[in-house]
Amino acid sequence: MPGSAVALWQGPAQPLRPADRRIALLLDSLWERHFADIPRVNDLVVGYDYPWKRHLGRIRMTLDQRTSQIGLNRLLDHDAVPSGVLVAILTHEIVHYAQGFGSPLPRAHRHAHAHGTVSHELAHRGLARYEDELACWVESAWPSFERRARAERQAAARTDRLVPCAVTSRVVYSL
Ligand SMILES: [Zn+2]
Repeated sequence: MPGSAVALWQGPAQPLRPADRRIALLLDSLWERHFADIPRVNDLVVGYDYPWKRHLGRIRMTLDQRTSQIGLNRLLDHDAVPSGVLVAILTHEIVHYAQGFGSPLPRAHRHAHAHGTVSHELAHRGLARYEDELACWVESAWPSFERRARAERQAAARTDRLVPCAVTSRVVYSL
């Protein structure tokens, strides 16, 4: 497998966290075990992204095609989230990469989700059970989990604002 995924970093305002590194390692191990035939033709950056309302993950690519970025909904950075849910989302995004969506590889279809193509590919690779686990979790747990996770984030943000002074050292980083 060419190279290792780099953990997502939003910049000095949001320092690189161990949770993002763990996601990068998980992505690499999934790629190695289940997608070893898929070439990685550009740099891959992965980690927790924004706490979107409408989706759990996404893949996108920079205009120059040098970097693909896989983001997980930041609300999922939580102990209550089963690891199978993270596996399901990451492998879903890897299938998009393999089929040329969010990656420089040739497009296998006109639309990323045409005819259940992602599900078929996951089943073909023996990963259907994770997709099933995700579907169950979204149906049974997501609504209450989302409310609780957003409330916790808002409470944490209020606490953050009480800090009277913050000194940040200059950080040099690259993606
Ligand atoms: Zn998708």
